[in-house]
Amino acid sequence: MTTCQMCEQHDETGGQLCPGCTKATRVRLEALPVLYRGLGVLLAPAGGVGQGRSGKGGPPPLPVSLDILDIRGPGGMVTPLESWVDAVRQDRGRPEAPHTGSAEARVELAVGELLGHMPWIAVSWPAAGDFAQEIREMATSLRTVIAPPPVINRGRRVGHCPALNTSGTVCGAVLWLAPGEKAVRCEWCGLQYPPYVWAQLKTWIDEDTKARDAA
Ligand SMILES: [Zn+2]
Ligand SMILES: [Zn+2]
Repeated sequence: MTTCQMCEQHDETGGQLCPGCTKATRVRLEALPVLYRGLGVLLAPAGGVGQGRSGKGGPPPLPVSLDILDIRGPGGMVTPLESWVDAVRQDRGRPEAPHTGSAEARVELAVGELLGHMPWIAVSWPAAGDFAQEIREMATSLRTVIAPPPVINRGRRVGHCPALNTSGTVCGAVLWLAPGEKAVRCEWCGLQYPPYVWAQLKTWIDEDTKARDAA
């Protein structure tokens, strides 16, 4: 009778990880090389960069996300996975293997070996909980980079709220016309601008902008 190191639930099997967490870790491990390759595709410049034909040269285009570079970098996934391989090998009394090849090949190799060790990890390895947690974090961060949560559509930016508050100063909060909305509403002071005042609203915004620029 023990407790699973991952979910901290009672585990009948008496191992380090319960059957559910063992399976989840296997699935996450299997997904890692696929997700890692997915990042490589995201990094490839769309349409390809001119290979010196134009002779312009210059720096390559910026990647879509610096997070991708962090994960694709040596410390992001390759090294942590290989350190887990080394740790397992050490605790099982096996010689350390050299880590060579391309980053993608190394990720694949490390994951393949870790999957092979999974039965032993789940039953006998005291570090199983830390290992399973790190694999979960890796899979989660890879997924969020590949499919970031959708950006909330705030609608069209109208300008700065020209309402005067009680102290006589201009509200100045940014006004948005939310998608599907009929009226502009200031999220800060709460004032509503229905369509029939939009012409006036524009005049006020322009006046305030001029006044701010002149100041
Ligand atoms: Zn568990
Ligand atoms: Zn306002």
